[in-house]
Amino acid sequence: ETNTNIALVSGANKGIGLEIARGLGRLGWSVGVGARDAERRETAVEKLLAEDVDAFGVPLDVTDDTSVAGAAALLEERFGRLDALVNNAGITGGMPQLPTEVTVEQLWSVLDVNVFGPLRTMRAMLPLLRRSPHPRIVTMSSGVGSLTRQSATTDPLSTGPVSGAYSPSKTYLNAVTVQLVKELAERGEERILVNLACPGFVATDLNGFRGVRTPEEGAQVAIRLATLPDDGPTGGYFEDAGEIPW
Ligand code: NDP
Repeated sequence: ETNTNIALVSGANKGIGLEIARGLGRLGWSVGVGARDAERRETAVEKLLAEDVDAFGVPLDVTDDTSVAGAAALLEERFGRLDALVNNAGITGGMPQLPTEVTVEQLWSVLDVNVFGPLRTMRAMLPLLRRSPHPRIVTMSSGVGSLTRQSATTDPLSTGPVSGAYSPSKTYLNAVTVQLVKELAERGEERILVNLACPGFVATDLNGFRGVRTPEEGAQVAIRLATLPDDGPTGGYFEDAGEIPW
C-alpha cells in the first residue's frame, strides 16, 4: 500500500503522452508509461527515471484485449489500485482521408485505437479506479471532434482538414464518454471524474510536427484534469481556454 498517487498514461512513449507522464511525475506521482513497443517503452522509462520521475513501464496495446488485461493485472499486483487513467494513445490513420475515399478498413483501424481503445482500457481499469480515494479518467479527444465547430466553419485552421476517419472518431469518443458518465451517475459513482481534453495543435509525429504548440503545453490540460479536486467537473470537454462546444 502506498500513499503516492498512481497514474497510467497510454501512448506515453512519445509526444503529448510522454509529457503528461513527465508532468504528473514532477507532481510526485508514480507514473505507468503505457506503450505497446518494448524498446520505445523502456527508452521513455529510462529517460524519466534519469529525471527522478518515478516511472515504470506498462506493456499496453489498446487494440488488444489481452494486453489491456495484462496492464490491469500489473497495476493490481503492484498497487491494488489506480488514481488516474489518461487515455492518450491515438492515431490519425494517415491523411488525406476524404469521406468519399476512406476505406472501411482505415475507418476500422482508427476507431479501434481512438474509440474502442479507451473503452477497453476504461473497462479494465474501473475496478482499480474504484479503489482510489479520488479516481480520475482523462481522455484525449480533440477539438476536431466538435460537431459544433465542424459545422460552424470550413476554415481548416479552426477545424483541421477534411477527415472521414480521425475527426469522426473523436466525435464518437466524445459520445461514448458522455454515456459512460451517465452510467456512472446512475450507479452513484459520480466521484469518478471523467473528462475529455483537447491539447491544441501540438507539434508531434501525429501531424508531421506541423503543430504550433509544444508537447509540454499540450499536456497541461490533461494534467489539470488528472489532478482535479473532488468537487471538480465530470463529463466535460476542455481545452486550455475553457469548455469546448460539443
Ligand atoms: P503521437 O503520434 O506523438 O503519439 C501517439 C502515441 O499513441 C504514441 O505513443 C503511440 O505509440 C501510441 N499508440 C498508437 N497506437 C497505439 C496502440 N494501438 N496502443 C497503444 N498505444 C498506441 O501523437 P500525439 O502525442 O500528438 O497524440 C496524443 C493524443 O492527443 C492522441 O489521442 C491525439 O489524437 C490527441 N491530439 C493530438 C493533437 C496534436 O495536435 N498533436 C491535437 C488534438 C488531439 P507508438 O510510438 O508505438 O506508435
